[in-house]
Amino acid sequence: LLGADGDLAPSIFAKMSALAVQHGAINLGQGFPDEGPPLLVQEAARQAIADGVNQYPPGRGIPVLRQAIAQHQRHWYGLDWDPETEVLVTAGATEALAATLLAFVGAGDEVVVIEPYYDSYAAITGLAGGRLVPVPARAPSFLPDPDDLARAVTDRTRIILLNSPHNPTGAVLPDSTIRLALELAEQHDALVVADEVYEHLVFAGPHRSLAEFPGGRERGVTISSAAKSLNVTGWKIGWLTARPGLLEPILAVKQFLTFVNGAPFQPAVALGLGLPDKVFAEAAARLDARRHVITDALRGVGFWVNQPAGSYFQIADGAALGLSDGVETCRRLIEEVGVVAIPVSAFLADPGDPGASSLVRFAACKTDPVIAEAAGRLAGFR
Ligand code: PMP
Ligand code: GLN
Repeated sequence: LLGADGDLAPSIFAKMSALAVQHGAINLGQGFPDEGPPLLVQEAARQAIADGVNQYPPGRGIPVLRQAIAQHQRHWYGLDWDPETEVLVTAGATEALAATLLAFVGAGDEVVVIEPYYDSYAAITGLAGGRLVPVPARAPSFLPDPDDLARAVTDRTRIILLNSPHNPTGAVLPDSTIRLALELAEQHDALVVADEVYEHLVFAGPHRSLAEFPGGRERGVTISSAAKSLNVTGWKIGWLTARPGLLEPILAVKQFLTFVNGAPFQPAVALGLGLPDKVFAEAAARLDARRHVITDALRGVGFWVNQPAGSYFQIADGAALGLSDGVETCRRLIEEVGVVAIPVSAFLADPGDPGASSLVRFAACKTDPVIAEAAGRLAGFR
């Protein structure tokens, strides 16, 4: 039920990070940055603790943060959310996803998801008693075929779960796919949930948020997080925006998952969300440059590598080198050159799927010297 392995094993991220430590390898596996948040944001968290912001915050999140989230969506996407009733702060995007699925998915309900998919989607759907319906997105574009998506959505569908920019492939969904998902949801009385945690990490074109599209406000739950936008994956401050009729049941679930979370981090994230546009743009540009360094190194030794449009991630395929099993490729990369990646099989409904089981995911969210060292090591892979 809980893991890609169908057992109670630790997640692939925990396993691979443990291997990284054990082998002294460079961790391009688990997606977390090795830089902290902007100094002003760090200082705001320190100050909040010193000022006594250490007890339970309000259940929906502190007003200042809810206002900052609404303002952020107004500024970047031209959207109007009421911070009183349409914004909910959660313990990371993880809890926003969990509370949303637990609120709306019951036994036998289906959750349509683009595959490969972030591993928690399958686990939470399982915990809710639902059934995951994967729609394949395969190389080179890693975009789903609209016909496949249309076929997957039926009257049993409760939620169509989108993720753009996408983990693990870095694909950014075209507007047409988001529109189609909303139309299908309308036809079958389902919801669309958009996981937009990589909203600021786009290299090609602006990110479009679910609620910008027709029906996205009425039938959509938009989820994001400070984790990737502000380099604070350990703070676990996420949020969702939705109309009150959708938000209330999610809040009811959240009360019994964590109740509330991260009091002193909330004002700091509020400050961070209002930083000048260029802070976000420069972070995306730095990431883009870093992923190119990894791409070049991998291509140099014969891997096929995709061209992600966003996210921390890129996908490499060693099939042309005779590496048909991504798990084995990851083992060799760790043992032979000291670099950790994640096998894409961890994000597949069928880990042995011949269309994707040779793929591995690399995260480029590391400082320049670490990326340079990793590229040097990868260049030595034979
Ligand atoms: N969704 C996706 C696509 C992710 O990659 C991650 C992991 N970082 C999350 C959700 C979880 O985000 P958070 O750390 O805010 O819980
Ligand atoms: N989102 C991160 C990744 O995909 C890891 C999160 C986790 O370890 N659960 O690498």
